[in-house]
Amino acid sequence: MDIHKFKKELTAYSKEIGIDKIGFTTADPFTELKSRLLRQQELGYQSGFEEPDIEKRVIPKMLLDGAQSIISIALAYPAKMSIRVESKKGERRGIFSRASWGLDYHHILRDRLNKLEEFILTRLPEAKLKSMVDTGELSDRAVAERAGIGWSGKNCSIITPEFGSYVYLGEMITNIPFEPDTPLEDQCGTCTKCLDACPTNALIHGGQINSKRCISFLTQTKELIPDEFRDKIGNRVYGCDSCQTACPINKGVNFHFHEEMEADPEVAKPLLKPILKLSNREFKARFGSVSGAWRGKKPIQRNVIIALAHFKDESAVPDLIEVLENEAAPVSRGTAAWALGKIGGQTALAALNKAKESETDINVQKEIEKGLNFYNI
Ligand code: SF4
Ligand code: SF4
Repeated sequence: MDIHKFKKELTAYSKEIGIDKIGFTTADPFTELKSRLLRQQELGYQSGFEEPDIEKRVIPKMLLDGAQSIISIALAYPAKMSIRVESKKGERRGIFSRASWGLDYHHILRDRLNKLEEFILTRLPEAKLKSMVDTGELSDRAVAERAGIGWSGKNCSIITPEFGSYVYLGEMITNIPFEPDTPLEDQCGTCTKCLDACPTNALIHGGQINSKRCISFLTQTKELIPDEFRDKIGNRVYGCDSCQTACPINKGVNFHFHEEMEADPEVAKPLLKPILKLSNREFKARFGSVSGAWRGKKPIQRNVIIALAHFKDESAVPDLIEVLENEAAPVSRGTAAWALGKIGGQTALAALNKAKESETDINVQKEIEKGLNFYNI
């Protein structure tokens, strides 16, 4: 087979099925990535969500016998919602980051990769292929960078000249010797806007991130949020886009190519208080299709409590007392205790004093103390 011609046909087909950018690289080891990952590990900057075996993340041949190339794909996602939410006075809303708008991108990318696989296999039935999205062993970003999709920005995103950094990435390892594309020049230059915009100083010069300080990671954890980050989270109930919105390359970028990616504003920018009352089933029915729900209801509810505290929403006090008194999860009770103190008022104070008498969980007791400290008692 003429591989050069086949690459062209595959590229043309990728456009037909709604892949906005495609790039090719070799299946050689990602040696530079390996030293970066080891350094991340040494410094304790990892999120813990990554594939633990570094070798698997950097040696594609460990994942597919006879691997010769990797195809990287990018799909552009919207930066602005097409439908605006009706804001009513006094109603407080949270925000999901853009990567959680519309249908979970894992499904969308999987669909495009499946179609690409079918196309390849009808022409080359003996081809060996292995596709992955985000949760796979390989680093989507390292593959995309080497395949010429975009450069790796100081905000640790892949920045494409066409769609900015608002792209979802996926890849396919193949045993086909596709000719590799050329990586793009880094165009960040002397800019540091993303580093300056990061509320928690999670970005480190040289394109490194301390995941443990990153709000995007913190909103996905299941534990109590460390004190120093609570005020910085604001009304983000999932993820954080600050280092992307600050990027000048993203200015004016807003592509709506894919119907499935359109946000339902009542999901992407939901009213906060009602989320506290959702049963597991109701939560799944409402948020189950978005990527931001992957850790379940509890982390989102904890973030909602932090957002209500951020707004100092006094109308939320009865709901927060309800959480403090009746919620089974200590993380929710503890966060509610802290939030009640932050919002303040006599009703919240009485509830904190009452809970102090009956609470048995040591971590929640500490949060009650923090709540009471807002009153300087
Ligand atoms: Fe900082 Fe938010 Fe970017 Fe994380 S996602 S590095 S917290 S700006
Ligand atoms: Fe690069 Fe500036 Fe964008 Fe950061 S804000 S990724 S430094 S161009």
